[in-house]
Amino acid sequence: MSIWSFDGLLKYKGICHFVSGRMGGASHPPFHSLNLGFHVGDNQQTVIKNRRRLACALGIPLSCFTFAKQIHKGGVKIITEKLRGAGSVEQGKTIDGADALVSNVPNICLVVLIADCVPVLFYDPVKNVAGVAHAGWRGTLRQIVKNTIGVFQEGFGSLSRDIIVGIGPSIGPCCYEVGQEVIAQVEEAFPSKEIYIDRVTKEGKGFFDLWEANKAQLIGAGIPERNIEVAKICTHCSHDSFFSHRFQKGRTGRFGAGIMIQGG
Ligand SMILES: [Zn+2]
Repeated sequence: MSIWSFDGLLKYKGICHFVSGRMGGASHPPFHSLNLGFHVGDNQQTVIKNRRRLACALGIPLSCFTFAKQIHKGGVKIITEKLRGAGSVEQGKTIDGADALVSNVPNICLVVLIADCVPVLFYDPVKNVAGVAHAGWRGTLRQIVKNTIGVFQEGFGSLSRDIIVGIGPSIGPCCYEVGQEVIAQVEEAFPSKEIYIDRVTKEGKGFFDLWEANKAQLIGAGIPERNIEVAKICTHCSHDSFFSHRFQKGRTGRFGAGIMIQGG
């Protein structure tokens, strides 16, 4: 099993974080092999087995994992003690309607599930607050990362300058071709779409750079550029290592990105 991490977050011993890949699990095609998503049509017991393998590799009990049921609306939820483990072994208990989770409670591993969308991890070492977000094109246009920073500030008194951010593997600007409808919405959401939409064709299609768009929103929310690490790994190009919704034409598994404050 391969597990990725961010250098910028590894410096902090008070947290554990990860990005999982697709290798080392028990699922069969098209979910081969470390699929962590219950909702994609895979066998439920196999998904639990995969989640247990990951939990074991990370040294975190599966009962600490808390999963978001992402809906691309840009909503952020604060996770309290009583929600520890929500959705870890049952899809029905997944935290509903949240594209980002934030918590300052130790031993809650906040997880988003990914196959092309952008996973974003957050940590404020001063206030000891962790967060995770999922930014597809809709979440990006609804400013999910800015909303998450807002919850750090309003809910926990965080200062933007203290927050460390990792932007994980997702479909890259090399492969993320979008149509006129998406481009029109990017135009509305950003003052200058040229920065984020590249190689526009005669037919009006172009390539959307989700990494730069999310990074720009973070900088706009006051996060210093030096605090932001971008993995720059394209899931579509690296479909052997990660699940890619687009490469597998919608029939695929999910990898995870998570972060947890370590308890004493
Ligand atoms: Zn690519």
